[in-house]
Amino acid sequence: NHIKNIAILGSTGSIGTQTLEVVRGNTNLFRAFLLTAHSNADLLINQAIEFKPEYAIICDESKYLRVKEALAHLPVKVLAGHQAIIDHITHPDIDVVLTAMVGFAGLEPTIAAIKAGKDIALANKETLVVAGELITGLAKQHGIKILPVDSEHSAIFQCLAGEHNNKIEKVILTASGGPFRGRSLDFLAGVTREDALKHPNWVMGAKITIDSASLMNKGLEVIEAKWLFDVTADQVEVIVHPQSIVHSLVQFNDGSIKAQMGLPDMKLPIQYALTYPNRIQTNFKRFDFTSYPNLTFEKPDLDTFRNLGLAFAALKQGGNMPCIINAANEVAVAGFLNRTISFLGMSSVIEECMQQMNYLEQPTLTDYLNTDKETRIFAQNLIQQMPLKAIQ
Ligand code: NDP
Ligand code: MG
Repeated sequence: NHIKNIAILGSTGSIGTQTLEVVRGNTNLFRAFLLTAHSNADLLINQAIEFKPEYAIICDESKYLRVKEALAHLPVKVLAGHQAIIDHITHPDIDVVLTAMVGFAGLEPTIAAIKAGKDIALANKETLVVAGELITGLAKQHGIKILPVDSEHSAIFQCLAGEHNNKIEKVILTASGGPFRGRSLDFLAGVTREDALKHPNWVMGAKITIDSASLMNKGLEVIEAKWLFDVTADQVEVIVHPQSIVHSLVQFNDGSIKAQMGLPDMKLPIQYALTYPNRIQTNFKRFDFTSYPNLTFEKPDLDTFRNLGLAFAALKQGGNMPCIINAANEVAVAGFLNRTISFLGMSSVIEECMQQMNYLEQPTLTDYLNTDKETRIFAQNLIQQMPLKAIQ
């Protein structure tokens, strides 16, 4: 009865801490073998004291000594820097890598893990958005599984169990619609960072919470779905479902639709990715149909939430275009969070980057790294040049 050694990239974040809750509840099945933080040294230290991983890695090198000293009495190897993650994610004892860091920073560690034959439990959707073709190609070549953690993709993955010989007609991603569902462009022009950070159904990291408010999260998920399930842009549909109970659906070629449902709780998809193809007992709160007499569904408003349309367009263009929108979006979201750009300004930055950046049809890894870097510089300059009236 082998205990699975899990490497958690971004253990101090929302998904990372919930993954550790799953580990804590199932120490007969899982061990946290490697933990990484970006800058939250205190939480990393506490996690290392509790879980005694083989490795604790802090990206921010200025915090290395603090972590090192705090853990000196424990048999935990403490390392620092992004490269240390890439170097140690290949450790032979690691069984699965759960990628819960945010943004483009997940790309290189994920590639290193796949090349070392590790299965990937993927929360870091940006990696598949940026380089889906490269990542899925490497996964095939190295015979590893990419197990979705994102709730919508986990739902589809669960619906596909036992359906391997059957044809998918389309996948239907549900979206909560975020805090601004039903609002007009005029309203969105005036929303603040605080308004956007109030998600109705999920508590998540800041970046994905803003993405949810702007519907860019759903756009990124459309691209993620393409690569996970080998479907075209035309086979991905988005439907707004404000209650977040139906997590997503698959329609097969006989017209039958399967859905996966439950109360919104990321621990379930996290755990399913780690126990797949099995399920294990939990005490998670159960869904009760009579408490939800009205599960509703509506079309997304693409004229108001432009990011979703931009993401579909980027997926259809392919090449490095999804990498361009991802980089532009990361810079735009950071700008919105530090109040240098308005909510609607984010879509303008993304659209401008899509038009102005160099399009490459068949990008290599180096091309992706360069596209990311160049788009970030370009987007940052755009934000600096934007008229103040566009800033709230
Ligand atoms: P958080 O912001 O809560 O956590 C991010 C984690 O990544 C933290 O551990 C942070 O470290 C670390 N990190 C941040 N920047 C870097 C970097 N440049 N290099 C290395 N590590 C970094 O995010 P979430 O947990 O919400 O999201 C993580 C990923 O999971 C995202 O890709 C998101 O889209 C995806 N996801 C999240 C969901 C959710 O419910 N939260 C649902 C579905 C997908 P530190 O805090 O120490 O600075
Ligand atoms: Mg999701």
